[in-house]
Amino acid sequence: MNTPKPSGDVSQLAICGGAPAFAQPLHVGRPNIADRERLFARFNDMLDRRWLSNNGPFVQEFERRLCALIGVRHCIPVCNATVGLEIAIRAAQLHGEVIVPSYTFVATAHALQWQEITPVFCDVDERTHNIDPALVERLITPRTTGIIGTHVWGRPCPIDALTEISQRRGLTLMFDAAHAFACSYGGRMIGGFGRAEVFSFHATKFLNSFEGGAIATNDDALAARIRLMKNFGFAGFDKVVFIGTNGKMTEVCAAMGLTSLEGLESLVEVNRRNYHAYVRALDSVPSVTLLRYDESERSNFQYIVIELDAVRAGLSRDEVVAVLHAENVIARRYFWPGCHRMEPYRSYFPHAGLLLGNTERMSERVIVLPTGTAVTPEDVDKLCGVLRTALASPEPVRQALAARPAA
Ligand SMILES: *Cc1c(COP(=O)(O)O)cnc(C)c1O
Repeated sequence: MNTPKPSGDVSQLAICGGAPAFAQPLHVGRPNIADRERLFARFNDMLDRRWLSNNGPFVQEFERRLCALIGVRHCIPVCNATVGLEIAIRAAQLHGEVIVPSYTFVATAHALQWQEITPVFCDVDERTHNIDPALVERLITPRTTGIIGTHVWGRPCPIDALTEISQRRGLTLMFDAAHAFACSYGGRMIGGFGRAEVFSFHATKFLNSFEGGAIATNDDALAARIRLMKNFGFAGFDKVVFIGTNGKMTEVCAAMGLTSLEGLESLVEVNRRNYHAYVRALDSVPSVTLLRYDESERSNFQYIVIELDAVRAGLSRDEVVAVLHAENVIARRYFWPGCHRMEPYRSYFPHAGLLLGNTERMSERVIVLPTGTAVTPEDVDKLCGVLRTALASPEPVRQALAARPAA
């Protein structure tokens, strides 16, 4: 189907007029689909029962299985991680200011701002891409009530250091664990740390329930509030006890989530295999650094992240992305240019960038490459061959890019 690409000949690159390396586009975050028959059997059960939402049997089973896998007391399914974050933040009574990384998906910040809590952006450690605990401490003010760390790429943020700071300073610690389902930290599963952790099961995430998420916590009182809040605050027929929203997961989503869970180990295996293929293919490319996973921990290997040293490469990050797009590899910039450069935050804090140098530099270097069940190790080899060819001859690549008609 796909045209084989002789590695090394720059004139064969699509950007130089060659045929694209892939006949069909390779996307980042193409959904992983588990066993169709099992899924359709569950849909039939659901239709037979006529129980489509409101804490149905699939949602209850999904929560039991999530709790067992993660080893937490509660892992409450919700309609998506954004609403999950909003509910967890509200149930834990955060207010005032909450410290978050700027290098995260904008939903982390929006979940706070949506309820008029100010996200205070903290810089990251360039080596880990995660929030830097040494810098968190400097951002604490009398208005600070919490810290939300994001486990970027599923690699745990510095949980121990953040736990120590939050305890010493009397702050609530939570985690945006949208990337980190089925990952561990110090041998313990992500989900059990801080006051609560929120997973995403969006279609593009490692494990999907079409759309969905879950709030994990070991705090029984917090869990009880979360359960009420996700159901409008209903504590029984006709009895509302406080303000709530509609954060319920549907049965159809839980059916997908359960089916995905059954395929979890094979999904990890596919991602691990692709990751190793990328490591082998890119190890010797001097201008490219592939982000590594700690293989002594559990990991979902869902993100293939490279950092491009544009000076060494002789090509900018965006030029490399353009080369890949021409080959039908829909590589992506991620979290660029940082939440602090998006509205409304860029208007609220026009000088935030002064404190976010690492975030700004790093988000200029990152490229995320495709993996998952829609990508084979042969695809990875071919894709990396294209990348190596382009990086070996930056000058003709730049000329070819410059000669293209403006988009
Ligand atoms: C995807 C994502 C979210 C939002 O998840 P949804 O389920 O799509 O609402 C939040 N935070 C991070 C870091 C994400 O990657």
